[in-house]
Amino acid sequence: MLEVKGLTAAVDGKTILNGLDLTVRAGEVHAIMGPNGSGKSTLCQVLAGRDGYEVTAGSVRYLGQDLLEMAPEIRAREGLLLSFQYPVEIPGVKNVYLLKAAYNAMRKHRGEPEADAFEFMALVREKMRLMKMDESFLHRSVNSGFSGGEKKRNEILQMLVLEPKLALLDEIDSGLDIDALKIVADGINRLRDPNRAIVMVTHYQRLLDYVEPDVIHVLYQGRIIRSGDKTLAHELEARGYQWLIDEVAA
Ligand code: ADP
Ligand code: MG
Ligand code: MG
Repeated sequence: MLEVKGLTAAVDGKTILNGLDLTVRAGEVHAIMGPNGSGKSTLCQVLAGRDGYEVTAGSVRYLGQDLLEMAPEIRAREGLLLSFQYPVEIPGVKNVYLLKAAYNAMRKHRGEPEADAFEFMALVREKMRLMKMDESFLHRSVNSGFSGGEKKRNEILQMLVLEPKLALLDEIDSGLDIDALKIVADGINRLRDPNRAIVMVTHYQRLLDYVEPDVIHVLYQGRIIRSGDKTLAHELEARGYQWLIDEVAA
């Protein structure tokens, strides 16, 4: 699904990713952890194709294609979706219109006819029930005045509707209370599928109690310094990062 090799990327001339390797197969869930400022969000943005991030070395294959050659909107249509650490507010654009436009763009790309309004609303209502979101959220501007937890639930709602092949979730669990965390985790678990991969950036072991990853990576200074199974997350929770950084340095 995704093969990142030696990825080196800079923002404003400053190298942030520094020879990063990552391989993700269909059906897998990966967690990326690591200290603040290690490049986790930068990795997500580079994969999504955000402007201003300059790839200076390395390669990224996505479903057999050269991802770095693809425009951001093509990446999205090809099923690579990023949920933001800080979801943007879009005043004046109704949530339901954004969802419908994105959903129909995906369908068109797959050569399927546009969904009619009735069919689309039935789908969205079903997904909103899963996320325990009230229908009024459809008629509000995207994320405008949403609480932190509501924004994160809205991100997962988008994923459930758009059905990405590769979902990148950047700190989807930040700022969530326990109930919202469980709802978001349930949503992520519903996304689990043999034909889909999920990469979630998180600072907290707690999310991993609900969404069990196949692989955990530690990102530090722009590269992955250790990969392991969920016991690695428990070890990090108990001991922090410094021991690992020392071990790798030695
Ligand atoms: P993480 O998500 O792991 O906390 P980030 O990817 O957000 O880390 O940031 C990694 C480093 O890149 C930090 O030192 C951050 O200050 C820097 N950085 C990120 N975005 C920019 C930017 N637009 N301009 C300059 N530095 C940036
Ligand atoms: Mg951070
Ligand atoms: Mg970040």
